[in-house]
Amino acid sequence: MREKSKKLYERAVKLMPGGVNSPVRAFRGVGGEPVFMARGSGARLTDVDGNEYLDYVMSWGPLILGHARPAVVEAIARAAEKGTSFGASTEAEVELAAEICRAYPSIERVRLVNSGTEATMSALRVARAWTGREKILKFEGCYHGHADSLLVKAGSGVATLGLPDSPGVPRALAELTVTIPFNDLKTLQETFRLHRKQLAAAIVEPVVGNSGCIPPQAGFLDRLRELTAEQGTVLIFDEVMTGFRVAYGGAQERYRFRPDMTTLGKIIGGGLPVGAYGGSAKLMDQVAPAGPVYQAGTLSGNPLAVAAGLMTLELLRQSGTYEKLEALGARLEAGLVEAARAASAPITISRVGSMFTLFFSAKPVTDYAAAKRADATRFGKFFRALLDRGVYFPPSQFEAAFISTAHTEADIEQTIRAAAEAFRHLAD
Ligand SMILES: *Cc1c(COP(=O)(O)O)cnc(C)c1O
Repeated sequence: MREKSKKLYERAVKLMPGGVNSPVRAFRGVGGEPVFMARGSGARLTDVDGNEYLDYVMSWGPLILGHARPAVVEAIARAAEKGTSFGASTEAEVELAAEICRAYPSIERVRLVNSGTEATMSALRVARAWTGREKILKFEGCYHGHADSLLVKAGSGVATLGLPDSPGVPRALAELTVTIPFNDLKTLQETFRLHRKQLAAAIVEPVVGNSGCIPPQAGFLDRLRELTAEQGTVLIFDEVMTGFRVAYGGAQERYRFRPDMTTLGKIIGGGLPVGAYGGSAKLMDQVAPAGPVYQAGTLSGNPLAVAAGLMTLELLRQSGTYEKLEALGARLEAGLVEAARAASAPITISRVGSMFTLFFSAKPVTDYAAAKRADATRFGKFFRALLDRGVYFPPSQFEAAFISTAHTEADIEQTIRAAAEAFRHLAD
């Protein structure tokens, strides 16, 4: 059934570490062998053996408009015809920067980079330069890319593989990263007392996506905003996943916050590699050549990626986009809960708009520790049962799933039917 995928994987493991270019793709969290994809269209993927899947990975978030949306493909092709990279500025970069600044009032100046990892890494550098402090605060199970300072108690693939903090990260650097649980007000307050005026930055996924989807509880982000403001700590909202996802203006629009800095990625590249970091003019004007904080990139602001991003944002601005995503998300959540109940499968669904995680946990999941208590083995079985029924969920209990505007109500109903069968299969 997946013979070609199997053969490719056998070749790949001899050529690439673990056979992949990014860890979670290897299916280690769910068992079985990874699927090699041949093409995508709308909400569907086709693998190299010709099997079709309804996709809820959506390239891990960027493809909010679905695969190969014609207007986005055309925008990329038009840009490519004019040249793929100049190593000089283009008009489209100015347009994308303008749109980001318009949609995120907390961003007065923005710098484009090539990935979310570069965005968070650079934002930390700016925060450290601004404050003259070295320590940073992050939250357990949040993933901010793979820069050294941030690979401490990280989510995503690190959580999926159950890895300890990564070897290769100098201890001296890791010691500068303070980590505490998300949604834990008491520990948050104690931490700011203990490290009074020593924290350069607090970086947070305002809606966690990388331990699975975990929404912020009432008051948590408010207290974080207050404490960081009081102590001159730069508050960085890592909206690489939530930006243009949980609302056009990200979590900061949805929950009405004004962070000091914001990192973006995923959706702003429309499926091509892009990241961005931004904030107030005074913070960002430290960055070279306006200021002394160095950060550069040969392909930064790449014309193809910027064209894909600009077209994606333009289409997202059409009226009703986020209402539609919310309606599809609500229907899928209700259908999955009902199907699980009918099969007596204890699950919890965490969802914010079109991002969600189905946890095999009877209790609500409010932090990383709770996510780790979910039954990842059952999730793996459920994942494989769904895959065999033509539905591709993220291959890990610790990842968020995504709905796109290309998903239809009929797709959602098909997914619910497949899930109902998968839950019954688990009970057998
Ligand atoms: C995906 C992600 C990153 C890393 O982005 P890359 O483009 O994979 O480097 C950082 N932060 C968050 C919140 C993410 O979801």
